[in-house]
Amino acid sequence: MLVVMKRSATQEEIAAVAARIESMGLKAHVIPGALRTAIGITGNTGPVDPSTFEMMPGVREVIRVTRPYKLVSREMKPEDTVIRVGGATVGGGGLVVAAGPCAVENESQAFAVAEKVKAAGAHLFRGGAFKPRTSPYSFQGLGIEGLKILARIRDAFDLPIVTEAIDVESVGPVEQYADVIQVGARNMQNFSLLKRVGRSGRPVLLKRGMSATVEELLMAAEYVLSEGNYQVILCERGVRTFADHTRNTLDLSAVPAVKDLTHLPILVDPSHGTGRRDKVLPMALAGIAAGADGLLVEVHTDPEKALSDGPQSLYPEQFADLMKALRRVAQALERPLALG
Ligand code: PEP
Ligand code: MN
Repeated sequence: MLVVMKRSATQEEIAAVAARIESMGLKAHVIPGALRTAIGITGNTGPVDPSTFEMMPGVREVIRVTRPYKLVSREMKPEDTVIRVGGATVGGGGLVVAAGPCAVENESQAFAVAEKVKAAGAHLFRGGAFKPRTSPYSFQGLGIEGLKILARIRDAFDLPIVTEAIDVESVGPVEQYADVIQVGARNMQNFSLLKRVGRSGRPVLLKRGMSATVEELLMAAEYVLSEGNYQVILCERGVRTFADHTRNTLDLSAVPAVKDLTHLPILVDPSHGTGRRDKVLPMALAGIAAGADGLLVEVHTDPEKALSDGPQSLYPEQFADLMKALRRVAQALERPLALG
C-alpha cells in the first residue's frame, strides 16, 4: 500500500500519516519525490483499510501496489533513484564505470590496475577482498588486508571503492573500509545478508543471481529497501543458459525491463556476462545502448597470471579503448559520461 501525499502536504501532515502507520504496528517508508512525497507501508500480512488514511489531511490518494515488490517499484517512486558515491553519481541519466581486478591479490597488483583504470577515466574502483569461489581450494581473497589495500587506493587515486561482502560477518569490515557493498550473484537470495546490508549506511551493488528472474532480482532488492537502505544499484551479470560460446548469457533485455519496473539504477557487467575479454567491449557498448546506467568491468595488468577471472579481464589498453568507445556512444545517446 502506498499513501500518496498532495504536493502541498506539510511536513507535519506527512509525519502524522507515518505515525498512524507505525501505530498500527507497520513500517512507514517516507519517500520524497520531485513531484510528491509517497509513504510506503510494509509489514502488513493482510490488506490494510485505505480509508484509514484517505481522510487524513494532506493525503491525495491511497494506492494498492499490485506487484509483489513495493518499495523498489516505479509505482512507489516514478523518478529515478540517484546514488552519490564519493564524487561519482549512479543513476539519473549519466553513465558511471566501475573497473578493477576481480580480486585484490597484493598491493602492487591492485595499485597498478588502479593507476591504469583511473588514467582511462573510471569513476569507481572494484576489487574483491572476500572472494566467493566455486572451489574451496581456489584463492579466497586477502580478507581484511585486501580491504586495507582498497582503502589506500581510494586515498591515493580518489576512487570510491566497490567490494563484496560474502556473508553477514564480512559486512562490518566491508562497510568500514569500502564505499559500496557488493552482494554477488551467488548471494542474491541470501536473505540474512540482504537484511544486514539493508541496515547499512552504505550503498549496495546487488548482482543478479545466475538463474534468477528479473522479479526475483527485484524481490532481493526489496529485502534491502525494506530494512531502510534505499541506496541499491542493480547489476546484470549474465545468466546460465545452454549457450557455451560465452561463460554466461548477458541478458541485456533485462535492462529495459528493469527500467520499466523500478526506479533503481542498473549496471551491466560484460566481464562475468561473457567470461571472455574479446566479448567485453561489444557487450559493454550494447549494455549502455540498452539503457544501463553504467558498467562494471574487470581489468588486470597481467591477466595471464590473475588469481581469478583472468580470461575475462581486459588489458589496461583494452580498457582505455573501451572508455574511448563509450564516450562516443554516450555522445550519440546524449547521456553524460562524467570524467573520471
Ligand atoms: C565479481 O564481481 O568478481 C563476482 C564474483 O561476480 P558475480 O557475483 O557476478 O559472479
Ligand atoms: Mn570476477
